[in-house]
Amino acid sequence: METSTVNQSLNKKTVQAPPVKELPQVFYKDIILEIKHLGVSVEGKEILKDFSLTLKSGEIHIIMGPNGSGKSTLCNALMGHPKYQVTGGEALLNGINILELKPDKRAQAGMFLAFQYPREIPGITFGNFLRHAVNAVQKANNPEAKPYGPAQFVPIVQKQFEVVKMNRQFIGRSVNEGFSGGEKKRAEIIQMSTLQPKIAMLDEIDSGLDIDALKIVAEGIQNVFDRTNMGVLLITHYQRVLNYLKPHFVHIMVDGKIVKSGGQELATELEKNGYEEYAPSQSGMRK
Ligand code: ADP
Ligand code: MG
Repeated sequence: METSTVNQSLNKKTVQAPPVKELPQVFYKDIILEIKHLGVSVEGKEILKDFSLTLKSGEIHIIMGPNGSGKSTLCNALMGHPKYQVTGGEALLNGINILELKPDKRAQAGMFLAFQYPREIPGITFGNFLRHAVNAVQKANNPEAKPYGPAQFVPIVQKQFEVVKMNRQFIGRSVNEGFSGGEKKRAEIIQMSTLQPKIAMLDEIDSGLDIDALKIVAEGIQNVFDRTNMGVLLITHYQRVLNYLKPHFVHIMVDGKIVKSGGQELATELEKNGYEEYAPSQSGMRK
């Protein structure tokens, strides 16, 4: 061995790499979200009426329904968007009514929403945004938890980027600013992958994606689901996402209510026949 090689291997032994921090490993069991008789209005207009649905860890539920049936309203109300007024009912996450919690407390309790229209946050890098979000959630659940520092967080966030094959340069860019539609949707999955929610709602995550991006996003969801066993509520117009994600339940939502529930065959049937049978007045063009 040449001297320089010997020195190199000696150096390798003496220089201790800092311990690599990982995200805490979670695998949820016995998580249950019970939405009971939920009523929601927006600007005085009643959108959800007596909406009920139970969702557990390890389950993927799909909600399909015509435009304007209240799918996004459901997600926004569950996350505590101030525009969505809860007029009745409850949403119990393992017995705790999340509707009584402030939005940040709902996120800390394990609720997550991937937005239909993700917002841009100029001036905050995506990496820092993720780090602060995960630190806040971890601290809420364990006051002793040490927050991730920027350098420590780099390998962690890089791993999450791999989940949706996103270029790492986005870590240093402002949140969603100048991202394409597909990149915004991937960024939502990265957030989910980092936060490891108990219940993840994905509102039209598949809209506007080409077939390759759709596959990557769907596989990203599957990856986080397999890893964490979270409960998933996926909202979509299209059956094509079901080529990649296998739901346990499919629900049809019309006019603020679930009108039919079933398995994957229900989605296939919808693809063929549309919503006509369930919503004669709502299918096709809306006035
Ligand atoms: P979906 O997601 O199923 O297409 P939405 O929940 O977005 O349906 O909308 C349901 C109804 O609520 C629509 O009539 C829509 O116009 C109304 N609505 C939803 N959000 C708002 C809002 N922020 N301001 C005013 N009206 C809204
Ligand atoms: Mg919507």
